[in-house]
Amino acid sequence: MATASAMIDFSNLPPLPEYHLTPLPSLLPPIPDKLLTLLLPIFAYWALSMFFHWIDTKDYFPQYRLHTPAEVSKRNRVSRWEVIRDVLIQQVVQTAVGWVLGMTEPDDFFGKEQYDVAVWARRIRIAEKSIPRLLATVGLDARGIAKTLGASHPTLAGALQGGQYPSLENLSAVGSASKVGTPGFAGWELMLASAIYWVLVPALQFGLAILVVDTWQYFLHRAMHMNKWLYTTFHSRHHRLYVPYAYGALYNHPFEGFLLDTLGASIAYKLAGMNTRQGMVFFAGSTIKTVDDHCGYALPWDPLQHITSNNAGYHDVHHQSWGIKTNFSQPFFTFWDRLLGTVWTGGDVSARYERSRLAAQKAFDTDNKKTTVTHSNPADSGTQDPKPYENDLRDATDLPSIPIKNRQPEPPAGKAELQAAGSRQQILDDKKDGGPGVLVDEAYEEKEARGFLRRSPRKRAPSTLSSKDGFKGLRDRVPTSMHGRARGIIGVDGSR
Ligand SMILES: [Zn+2]
Ligand SMILES: [Zn+2]
Repeated sequence: MATASAMIDFSNLPPLPEYHLTPLPSLLPPIPDKLLTLLLPIFAYWALSMFFHWIDTKDYFPQYRLHTPAEVSKRNRVSRWEVIRDVLIQQVVQTAVGWVLGMTEPDDFFGKEQYDVAVWARRIRIAEKSIPRLLATVGLDARGIAKTLGASHPTLAGALQGGQYPSLENLSAVGSASKVGTPGFAGWELMLASAIYWVLVPALQFGLAILVVDTWQYFLHRAMHMNKWLYTTFHSRHHRLYVPYAYGALYNHPFEGFLLDTLGASIAYKLAGMNTRQGMVFFAGSTIKTVDDHCGYALPWDPLQHITSNNAGYHDVHHQSWGIKTNFSQPFFTFWDRLLGTVWTGGDVSARYERSRLAAQKAFDTDNKKTTVTHSNPADSGTQDPKPYENDLRDATDLPSIPIKNRQPEPPAGKAELQAAGSRQQILDDKKDGGPGVLVDEAYEEKEARGFLRRSPRKRAPSTLSSKDGFKGLRDRVPTSMHGRARGIIGVDGSR
């Protein structure tokens, strides 16, 4: 190679234009771009979250819900206020880190774009110089072909001869650096150089940043699930949300939030060599993706649900007690899960979701009935006589003492069985967030739901959710769940 390049003449290249730099004005005066880069992800997070919260409270798209509001209120082990508080803490940390990162970044200028395009055009010209030699290796005479083509296709002839365009001399197309007798760039060279500079390089930068974030998050997230101490100390907090909702996306232990989200995105930004405005798009974009993955809906018109198979349905499986040791990939693609065999293999999850909805609905209705009786019967309200029930508590079945394995849904065979066992153990290990109690509750509810479905296979669950949860009169939508309509969106059926 050294010999080959030594034989190519690099002296006769078109000159590069002069440039002078001007400070880049801010995109949204008077907010400096570096500050906007920090504010935009926070704004995007709450704006998108509030949009999903709004369609939640108005109950606009019940058919695309992954879970019912009854499940939100019965299954989650953390209040909405605690979630908001911890997300705000994470955003303060994220902003502080971003501020420090911003201080290490050079200020942004403009004015060098034409120069940079010309640098690419020169690289193209240098590459052209190898064409005659390359053609010679396959027995073609570049000069001969160029002569034949010269009259009809002068530009092609010039390229074949290694970038010789005599007609362009003195007509340097970029900048003011042209001198009489100097070579100039061909139109196609400048167009290609512009496409490389404005499209290809930024696309590769975003691709690299996405790869870095996905890789960083996959391995750390997986480690958090494989190591019991890491899980129970840090990551279990995020999993208090068995039914994710949009603004729970960044509900994390502060250390985990810093390590996985803030540091991961910062490293990706640095490695991809992004400028401030690219950072704006990247940080806000990955925030939006994370929120969308936790939104609790499989909306068919939401483009983010379709761009990759990592979407709300995919990540929702990871939030379930039976799928927690699967689907670790976040936030963009699922290739690490697929390459390393951690993608959910338990097949179609529709039935599980249906039973879960039904069980939560029944539990919700039971709670509601208790409340209604107490308040609607004035005769009872004054007398808190425990007599008719005084033995009930003593005689009540002690759920946690019932062997777990007898109460679990039958795990699927083979690999799915291993995943199920791993997931089950993860929940058991996390004693402070419920531990065995979570599984016992679920197993009991599962049994009830199965029994209910057997007794009345066509019966809809009652539609008695009150406004207590902030949702208007909703009904259980088991039979019309999105799993039937939009299996392609949920992205978790067995075929994948
Ligand atoms: Zn997790
Ligand atoms: Zn999550």
